[in-house]
Amino acid sequence: MSKEARLAVVLNDEAQRKFDECVAALTALRYGPEGPPKDTTFAEIEEFGHEVGRMLGRAVDQQLTNQHAEQFQGAATCPTCQSACDPKPTPLEREIQTSDGPVPIHEPVCRCSVCNRDFFPSAFGVED
Ligand SMILES: [Zn+2]
Repeated sequence: MSKEARLAVVLNDEAQRKFDECVAALTALRYGPEGPPKDTTFAEIEEFGHEVGRMLGRAVDQQLTNQHAEQFQGAATCPTCQSACDPKPTPLEREIQTSDGPVPIHEPVCRCSVCNRDFFPSAFGVED
């Protein structure tokens, strides 16, 4: 599968309906049910649309990152010494910076008693 094919977002009928409802709710919040006033510039409309896009991007990042992290609840192998390590009882709450702004995430953390270090078993190239 090409990268473009993997990144394409195709909505089914139900998802499209919910998306349309979400857009209508957001635009009504900003400009009311009648839409923008006469003196609104396209730049103002575009700026709002861009900010909504960034908000959606952060929400998608947060949901998928947290769902992905839930798959790493058990013991994990230390990346340094290869020992099996148990996760700490509470996931770490932290904020990662994305191109759309900060995204709060909850990540399981394992403690390696051999190396005396913590590591994120779900880490997949997220740098902070
Ligand atoms: Zn280790």
